[in-house]
Amino acid sequence: MVHSTMMDDYPLTLGHIFDRADRFFPTREIVSHMPDKSLHRYTYRDFSKRSLQLAAALNAMGLKKGETVGTLMWNHYAHLEAYYGIPLAGGVVHTLNLRLHPDEIAYLSNHAQNRFLIVDDTLLPLLAKFVSQLKVEKIICVRLTQHPLQPTMLDYEHVLSTAPADWQRPQLEERDACGMCYTSGTTGKPKGVVYSHRAICLHAMMLGIGTLDSRVVIKHADTVLPVVPMFHANAWGIPHVGIMAGAKLVMPGPYMDPANLLMLFEKENVSVSVGVPTIWLGMLKELKEKPDHYKIPQNMRTLVGGSAVPEALIRGFEAYGVFVVQGWGMTETTPLGTTSLLTRDMQEWDEDRQFEARAMQGMPVPFVEARILNGQGQEVVWDGKSIGELQVRGPWVAASYYDPEEDSSDKWTESGWFRTGDVACMTPEGFVRITDRTKDLIKSGGEWISSIDLENAMMAHPDVQEACVIAVPHPKWAERPLAVVVPKPGRSVDLTAMRSFLAPKFAKFWLPDGLVEIDQIPRSSAGKFMKSVLRDRYQDWEWTHPAEDENES
Ligand code: ADP
Repeated sequence: MVHSTMMDDYPLTLGHIFDRADRFFPTREIVSHMPDKSLHRYTYRDFSKRSLQLAAALNAMGLKKGETVGTLMWNHYAHLEAYYGIPLAGGVVHTLNLRLHPDEIAYLSNHAQNRFLIVDDTLLPLLAKFVSQLKVEKIICVRLTQHPLQPTMLDYEHVLSTAPADWQRPQLEERDACGMCYTSGTTGKPKGVVYSHRAICLHAMMLGIGTLDSRVVIKHADTVLPVVPMFHANAWGIPHVGIMAGAKLVMPGPYMDPANLLMLFEKENVSVSVGVPTIWLGMLKELKEKPDHYKIPQNMRTLVGGSAVPEALIRGFEAYGVFVVQGWGMTETTPLGTTSLLTRDMQEWDEDRQFEARAMQGMPVPFVEARILNGQGQEVVWDGKSIGELQVRGPWVAASYYDPEEDSSDKWTESGWFRTGDVACMTPEGFVRITDRTKDLIKSGGEWISSIDLENAMMAHPDVQEACVIAVPHPKWAERPLAVVVPKPGRSVDLTAMRSFLAPKFAKFWLPDGLVEIDQIPRSSAGKFMKSVLRDRYQDWEWTHPAEDENES
């Protein structure tokens, strides 16, 4: 028997990615949009020096291997230092979602056993709402605005200055934990996911290879702006692949609104940006309303995901020369699992068919395996129609949750596949198309209706700003689809017009039987539609449209 002669024990750790920053790319820039709207600029060398100081100081303050440090921060240079400084000290960065309810933030910080917390001074008013519930011992405040420091807090800059010069970097193993994030809880209680160095490194490498299309790859020459907050699933791995490649990083700070983002794109000549569809829909609206106001950098690319990307969004940005790639993923998958990049054969398709495919979630990335099982536990036929539950496995897919008490027996199959809770089908080309989350499916008279398919089609209506479709109880059909629509400013949409608009694309029984116009669709902290809130709001909806006969057809 022949044995491998490779250095198979060489550990894949964030330490390696970090060391490249200073060694090979010392002059590359990291730009952060500060609360006072100024741009803070420094180099990879500065980042490297300060991250090491943070690591040394944390160890000196008593942080031990495997302990968590909470961060309550926007996307900026100091959060990046925490992303590396904490793991370099052997710790685990627990990114707290600042958009959650204060009680929930406190609960999650305590649940993760954070002894240290690093917080932006601009978030002190938020922290004040739950600090009394926290079990942390030390709070370190990053003074972005020179806020007065509260006596119980440590100044981040002071902490860095206390870093012992003789600090020894702890040995890191690839299976050590280095990051932690809770699911955003769109469909249930947040659950803790703990990332290993190995998972994050492999995920970063995957983001850097782009098997199908080099346009989605982050390269050295790129200027990358992660709009996705650093408190969501490792900011989708963008900081890690960015640093690995030595790309210029542009951090939006607290300014995640369309006008500020578009300004930064232009000013810093951003070539790649990533974020959820809500953000991009907002930017599209801003661009349309002020056509002469912004200049989008040439050949810009975006990775959009977190919820379904409407075809209208992909087409909309194409008109501005921006290439949109859809990605699907979850907190439990580090997060990237699939991308909607077209294969060579698909690039021969006519334009409409190509756009249709790009509005799907796409092909699993290398090393992520995906399968779709029907109710009988059998893999569905790859016909683009047969639906079932999407299950995945791979080296950056969670094998369990952090809390051993958590009842997660239904989240993994006996053979170890992760059950995503997403309902999907597979096209003959191997493209995953998500039709719903299990909890959002509409079951009308025993037949499934996909809310995502309807929403995507409705978003292409000229008077619609945003649309959401929910299941509402119906006396005869068990459930029927109700369309909840945010019209464009000064416009209005009615049920008859919407039904006629959708009629060519769907079976009659799929067409919504009711439509309400609202000002805003309630969203989760990650910008996803909170359909559960709408379902509660409209559960007593009185159906007036006589859907009876149509549903039978
Ligand atoms: P939560 O489960 O609380 O929403 P996550 O951020 O982990 O938190 O969300 C993962 C879920 O988001 C997926 O299971 C899927 O339902 C949805 N999702 C992510 N990306 C896409 C996408 N491109 N298209 C449709 N749904 C998506």
